[in-house]
Amino acid sequence: VKAMKKQPIPEKIGLSDNALQVLEKRYLKKDKAGKAIEKPEDMIRRVARTIAAAELIYDPKCDVRSIEDEFYGLMARLEFLPNSPTLMNAGRELGQLSACFVLPIDDAIESIFDAVKHTAMIHKSGGGTGFSFSRLRPEKDRVGSTGGVASGPVSFMRAFDVATDVIKQGGTRRGANMAILSVDHPDIERFIKAKQTAGVLTNFNLSVAVTDAFMEAVRNNGEYELKNPHNGEVVEKKKARDIFDQIVNLAWKTGDPGVVFIDRINAGNPTPQLGKIESTNPCGEQPLLPYESCNLGSINLSKMVKSNGKKTIDYDKLGYTVRTAVRFLDDVIDVNKFPLPQIAERTRQTRKIGLGVMGFADMLIDLGIAYDSPAALDTAEAVMGFIESESHKASEELAAIRGTFPAYDGSVYDGKVKMRNASCTTIAPTGTLSIIAGCSSGIEPHFALCFTRNIMDGTKMVEVNPYFERASVEGGFFSKEMMEKLAGGAHLEEFANVPEAVKKLFVTAHQITPEGHVKMQAVFQKYTDNAVSKTVNFPANATVADVDKVYLMAFDDKLKGITIYRDGCKADQPMSTGKTE
Ligand code: ADP
Repeated sequence: VKAMKKQPIPEKIGLSDNALQVLEKRYLKKDKAGKAIEKPEDMIRRVARTIAAAELIYDPKCDVRSIEDEFYGLMARLEFLPNSPTLMNAGRELGQLSACFVLPIDDAIESIFDAVKHTAMIHKSGGGTGFSFSRLRPEKDRVGSTGGVASGPVSFMRAFDVATDVIKQGGTRRGANMAILSVDHPDIERFIKAKQTAGVLTNFNLSVAVTDAFMEAVRNNGEYELKNPHNGEVVEKKKARDIFDQIVNLAWKTGDPGVVFIDRINAGNPTPQLGKIESTNPCGEQPLLPYESCNLGSINLSKMVKSNGKKTIDYDKLGYTVRTAVRFLDDVIDVNKFPLPQIAERTRQTRKIGLGVMGFADMLIDLGIAYDSPAALDTAEAVMGFIESESHKASEELAAIRGTFPAYDGSVYDGKVKMRNASCTTIAPTGTLSIIAGCSSGIEPHFALCFTRNIMDGTKMVEVNPYFERASVEGGFFSKEMMEKLAGGAHLEEFANVPEAVKKLFVTAHQITPEGHVKMQAVFQKYTDNAVSKTVNFPANATVADVDKVYLMAFDDKLKGITIYRDGCKADQPMSTGKTE
């Protein structure tokens, strides 16, 4: 692996109060009384040391201390962070380091409840689980052994939901699940409506797996067949438009269900010889084979800007960060303690990693580029294109030393290029990581410039986006009163003393058109091996037709899936944006 440029290691990590609170609550080691017994610096050292130990497998004489320092520096400078389970569990008893899992569910009681148990084990360690329920026979179908009738996928989902509820009381964080049902399953309408009652399946995101043929039929006003997965019988024919309308209607109402374009996901399956991909992880960014897991990590783009008179992207630093991060994530696989032997085996066969970004919106502001401008799309193209190609180069370099991933023969890379990892890039939401790093989350625009945070003793404090604070102080229009009004829901446009250029630059999520959100997601998807987590925001007064248009646009723009959020709709998502924690 290429020579590493020495980077300074900070003595203290530049954490905000909020980041410290999050770390103390859930990440740092505690004593029996619940008091933190390690500092953030100790946590990062624990992680760096545990992960770097993997290097000894490949070269027992390597300078493991210097690699540990490279890893430590990357995290201590908040330039790169691995997913939460790695921070929480590395070097500790659990030792489970991955965020994303997919478990198979077969049409048998034993298989279903094995999966419930495995889900509990994964949630205990902070991982999230995705499942396809498509193999289960439909509700009211006959059950051979008892002569009774089947409960169907939606009923069984409740068992997973309750198990998740129970586990969260003892675990590190509330568990999260993705449930997928194929659009041609006879229970599809029941599934689409499954979350419409308040308080039901609150630990689940729902996505309908739609095929290309189904999308074709929606466009041509055609019909398609519902099939019983148990015996392959065609049960019914449906108008594709009717089902699509129901999906869109309910997504408009509550945000659920999303859709995944399952044929496109499988067209991008790097190891088709191992079987089909049928589900993603909870937030949709990581398609996986049954029993496969993946560890993610995110580069903080707000730290990748250099200034010599003019601000530009520091590609040298970014290249170094990508290479070191790929090596880190590949090492994670070797020291990971997997929750099940099947998961260990599958994951080690493909060695998927998911390197992504956070702080993209911060970086744009630093560069003086508005999120909803053509220049922002160009920047996304340049940055993610670079990360994608550098990460593949790094994986190739690792393959030359450590060998290809074991399932390389028959993979899409076979005979073309030797790779250490079947996939390298994923854009995660970075809900908590972005709080720790103090940057904007994932590739999302800023949600607000100011917001009110409840402090523990009951007082409230207005928090101002640091880039906006700087701009308003330098521009001479800073006032406490304005920040309070903004935190209360006022828009920047209402303030006459704020220059037009500032208003344009500090555009927030709700001012960006849904089409603008999709366009940004599409650019990132183009350069991402796995998928992209992105919320497409709609204003409260958006119509069902607006949502319909965007779901179709997502298909045309080659996304792997889409979820939307209409302001004020009754969404009950298991994932928190972190803003209220
Ligand atoms: P983080 O910032 O904590 O690393 P992300 O918000 O980037 O996590 O989410 C990445 C993935 O981690 C999710 O898609 C999911 O698989 C898993 N995950 C996140 N939050 C949870 C949770 N509360 N419970 C279980 N899994 C989670």
